Amino acid sequence: MPAANMYPEALKQAMQYFSRLPGVGRRSAERMALAVLEWPEEQCRQFGELLRDLPKRIHPCRQCGNLTESELCPFCRDDTRQRDALCIVEQATQIPVIEGTGCFRGLYHVLGGKLSPLSGRGPESLNLNMLRTRLEGGNITEVILATSSDVEGEATASFLVQELAPYSVTVSRIAFGVPVGSDVSYSDSATMAMALSGRRIVKRPDHD
Ligand SMILES: [Zn+2]
Repeated sequence: MPAANMYPEALKQAMQYFSRLPGVGRRSAERMALAVLEWPEEQCRQFGELLRDLPKRIHPCRQCGNLTESELCPFCRDDTRQRDALCIVEQATQIPVIEGTGCFRGLYHVLGGKLSPLSGRGPESLNLNMLRTRLEGGNITEVILATSSDVEGEATASFLVQELAPYSVTVSRIAFGVPVGSDVSYSDSATMAMALSGRRIVKRPDHD
């Protein structure tokens, strides 16, 4: 009988939840649940309440789709950001990586995924309506495509170049530094800094 089966029911359930987390195997989940058991009761209660409230407190920014507790995320609210440059990312988790480079001071747009015909994820699964609304606002002159360099990320970038064709914006694609086939969410900021500074223009404004 596996060791985990010998634990009381509630502890087994806690282990099962921990094992659902990315990168956490059965043994790690077991250690995590036992570690939480050692916490002071008040800390356990606060952790439980935080988890319970997380879906209510965290939601997408009304403008860019970044994760936020307010209506607008800190970037969209920040008047000192460059408001004519937009960096398009797959997930909100990429934003801290790009911020860590210190190379970009514009605004973000979170697609909420990438195109994946094999998994049945088409354009309708991406946050495109809000993107069009923002571009139609007319303030944006530069768009950086910071999707991954894997097949799906490249397909998404190509799709976006077509989508952006009607707008008078310069479109560039991050190019160097991000290892081919990798997911940009897991890039470090130094790698991302090279990717941003090495970006190549894939579309110029129509009036150029
Ligand atoms: Zn925002």
